[in-house]
Amino acid sequence: MDKVLHCTQCNQDFKSGGWYGCEGNPARKHAVERRTFYSESDRYQVQVIVETRIIGAGGNLVHVPGKIVEFIGGTFMTTDPEIQEVLEREAPMTKERYMDLRMTPELKAGRDRRIIDEQTELIAQLKARNAELAAKANEPEEEEREPVMAAAGNKKKK
Ligand SMILES: [Zn+2]
Repeated sequence: MDKVLHCTQCNQDFKSGGWYGCEGNPARKHAVERRTFYSESDRYQVQVIVETRIIGAGGNLVHVPGKIVEFIGGTFMTTDPEIQEVLEREAPMTKERYMDLRMTPELKAGRDRRIIDEQTELIAQLKARNAELAAKANEPEEEEREPVMAAAGNKKKK
């Protein structure tokens, strides 16, 4: 039921919630592929880890300080699987949405113009192609001539 994750440090699979125990060290945390999270606000802050104590090597209590992450320019990158899991809930914004929000009206207008230009260009190409096909349909002799013969004909003309 729990999501299985893969550690890039020790190459072991571990379950969501079992953040510690990397390389057999109960106080060492696993790490996963780096992910980037996005937020509307530049310096979005999230409490990702609540202060706690875990049982470390030899049964000692290890103090785990709480952690608050702060986004920079609306983005935050981390390889910490625990933080990633919290940010999946707290900062679920997609990159596309983020980029869209970050674009100035000028950039947006430019992008929209570019898309329209591309579409106009494509339509023009299709129209030209259709016209070409229509013209060919009106010249049956050209259509029926075999390529080899056409090439030979061209050579003779030279
Ligand atoms: Zn590990």
